[in-house]
Amino acid sequence: MVIMMKLNAPEEDIQKVKEKILSKGCKPHTIIGSEKMAIGVTGQTTQLTEGEFLLMSSVEDVYRVSKPYKLVSREMKTEDTVINLNGSTFGGNEIAIIAGPCSVESRQQIFDIAGELKEMGIKFLRAGAYKPRTSPYAFQGLKEKGLEYLADVKKELGMSIVTEAKDTQTLPMISEIADIIQVGARNMQNFSLLEAVGELPNPVLLKRGLAATIEDLLMSAEYILSQGNYNVILCERGIRTFETHTRNTLDLNAVPVIKKHSHLPIFVDPSHGIGIWDKVTPMAMAAIACGADGLIIEVHNHPENALSDGFQSLTPKNFKQLLNKVEQLAPIVDKKVNFYAEQN
Ligand code: PEP
Ligand code: MN
Repeated sequence: MVIMMKLNAPEEDIQKVKEKILSKGCKPHTIIGSEKMAIGVTGQTTQLTEGEFLLMSSVEDVYRVSKPYKLVSREMKTEDTVINLNGSTFGGNEIAIIAGPCSVESRQQIFDIAGELKEMGIKFLRAGAYKPRTSPYAFQGLKEKGLEYLADVKKELGMSIVTEAKDTQTLPMISEIADIIQVGARNMQNFSLLEAVGELPNPVLLKRGLAATIEDLLMSAEYILSQGNYNVILCERGIRTFETHTRNTLDLNAVPVIKKHSHLPIFVDPSHGIGIWDKVTPMAMAAIACGADGLIIEVHNHPENALSDGFQSLTPKNFKQLLNKVEQLAPIVDKKVNFYAEQN
């Protein structure tokens, strides 16, 4: 249920509406629009009637959300969510780029690649310290040491950090250093983890599960918002299909479809989406062309030696070419970039 408040509704009236919602055992969520505010209601809303709220002062309108996902839906909030974080925006008219290696491998490796990316104007460094791997024998990440190196990069180079939370046990440590917490594809339906990140202040990058529908992804985002964390960035990273030429099938259909049904920013990860380094740039361009708010790209100084996902990682040189193409494409989709691509 959504309760639309009148323009400039006094705080006292807003409080009364919230108290009524709470007294019925439901939860109020403040939704700020550019002009008006609304109060989203979650919980057992079937016991509430539109009429009882319409009678309250400063209430303009009351309506029910027809979709199974509520807080993430456009019905609840018509305007796009724009997340302002450390001088960058996610979901506005700026294309945000998150780049870095799949994993933190050593202090030297992460400092080398972070330094190169910083030179290109990249502000958000990605790298996993805790890696959920298909094989228990594959590199599992440097764990605490990896987080320590990321904290050093953040401190010494001033870059913002995006790193994955694999489970609820390590989440408190990760939330201390991560500017954005990544919830990986394999954890998209780890509901305890979703609820736990929902209680944190850190924005969350929620990746689509390997066999998840768009509705499944939106329902998972709903878990996070329902706990009070409204800063969720969705991420299309490819799904499993019968196709074997590529690692996954990058479902770019998800971008315009999500834009229609949700106000949350939608990112695309072409690196995992296609899994082949020299096909990453065309798919990155396709993602921007269809309206993605940003990209997350794997970049490694020596892909041939990478401890994970080397085959899909770009070298800094190739990554710079990707940035250059994205910069040229940006005005066509009415967007701008905040990195330094080569002009030619
Ligand atoms: C990653 O970003 O390195 C990763 C493991 O991604 P995904 O969860 O999409 O497989
Ligand atoms: Mn990876």
